[in-house]
Amino acid sequence: MSEKTEVERLKEKLFYQPKHACEVVNAEEVANADRFCEGYKAFLNAAKTEREAVTYMEETARALGFTEYDRDKKYVPGDKVFYNNRGKAIVLAVMGKKPLREGVRLSAAHIDSPRLDLKPNPLYEDSAMALFKTHYYGGIKKYQWTCIPLSLHGVMIKKDGESVKVNIGEDAGDPQFVVTDLLPHLAAEQMKRTLSDGVRGEELNVLVGSRPFCADEGSEKVKLNILQILFEKYGVTESDFLSAELEAVPAFPARDIGLDRSMIGAYGHDDRVCAYPAAEAIFAVKDPDYTLVTCLTDKEEIGSEGNTGLNSSYLRYFIADLAKSAGEDYHTVLSHTRCLSADVNAAFDPTFPDVSERMNASFINNGVAIMKYTGSRGKGGTSDASAEFMGEVRRLLDREGVVWQCCELGKVDAGGGGTVAMYLASLNMDVVDLGVPVLSMHSPFEVVSKLDVYMAYRAFKAFFEEK
Ligand code: MN
Ligand code: MN
Repeated sequence: MSEKTEVERLKEKLFYQPKHACEVVNAEEVANADRFCEGYKAFLNAAKTEREAVTYMEETARALGFTEYDRDKKYVPGDKVFYNNRGKAIVLAVMGKKPLREGVRLSAAHIDSPRLDLKPNPLYEDSAMALFKTHYYGGIKKYQWTCIPLSLHGVMIKKDGESVKVNIGEDAGDPQFVVTDLLPHLAAEQMKRTLSDGVRGEELNVLVGSRPFCADEGSEKVKLNILQILFEKYGVTESDFLSAELEAVPAFPARDIGLDRSMIGAYGHDDRVCAYPAAEAIFAVKDPDYTLVTCLTDKEEIGSEGNTGLNSSYLRYFIADLAKSAGEDYHTVLSHTRCLSADVNAAFDPTFPDVSERMNASFINNGVAIMKYTGSRGKGGTSDASAEFMGEVRRLLDREGVVWQCCELGKVDAGGGGTVAMYLASLNMDVVDLGVPVLSMHSPFEVVSKLDVYMAYRAFKAFFEEK
């Protein structure tokens, strides 16, 4: 082997060069990542909505010895609890050995994803077809949601108060649903629309039936037949849609992508690809020094509003209750808390390079992505992590051999986005965004790299294991 030149040696010492994870990790680590992602894919297929994610996580937590949090109970180090907020957000906690006043180690990720929500009065019949009116949830490119198989998930509260869980289109043999689109032959006018207007919100109507209820002579017989089927299956009538949360989501399961199977394509990586590693990390750590909290929250995609979103006080109340039973002031606990706010980043896409600035873009396979800030228009609407906290996090990740990169969401003024970090920062904790780079973010079929998913897990675990 030839000796390194002085220039090479100096470059190695002085330059910063992000690396592909495969240049850093060994074959065993790659195998670990692939194995970890098998569990992740199972989670994706079982939990396509925030409610299903909460159910999945509560069941997993219970099986691992977590019990429902009781604010009147005194807990000792090693105790594991969960707090289920209205079935749509869940907080997992493991009590640590250090006094609570030294702060908790918090990771937060969201479990809601863009989708098509049914309107309160969704069902109608037109031209002998039955359809659901929808109101899209979160930021979507509407044209992407036509002509793909959809499943229907959610809950209906009947007139008498009974709650009925709905899940149609996931099991083999289930029927599925679809939003239709125009054939190109007759789309001359539609093709003149701009891309953002190509398919309009009121055109996202989900096809649910076409066969009339034959025994009846009246109008709307197709709609009647659909209601009859729903009544037989769930005991619901049309007015029960008024007290329901029903969501149409892509029906396809998570699949390996690429001949090398290095990636996963699926609906809802944003942000289950951070939620799953954050939960698995708290499940994996034994006898932590700090008290650990993983918060899997709802409503991030529409601005974190509502009582299950992180702009509500539920997480603060949970930590306040923990503090009270430990005889501490909750503001002291919050002020000393350190948080990895876990959300996805837009991965550099070679087909659309113009929206990214290469030096500050995240690349798939370069490891877990740290975003010092997100926001838009001059860092508006974000929390900008301090140099000191960035320093702590990079030291930790380097020490533990976690592959990571540092990035922005896109070019300055190309657009922008936000995360829950600013709501956590408003509680006076140290917080930085960290997550997995995603291709085709907010589309029905997003793509991530398996190594990045695993590096996110390694990052949360290292953060939770700190002494
Ligand atoms: Mn997100
Ligand atoms: Mn999002």
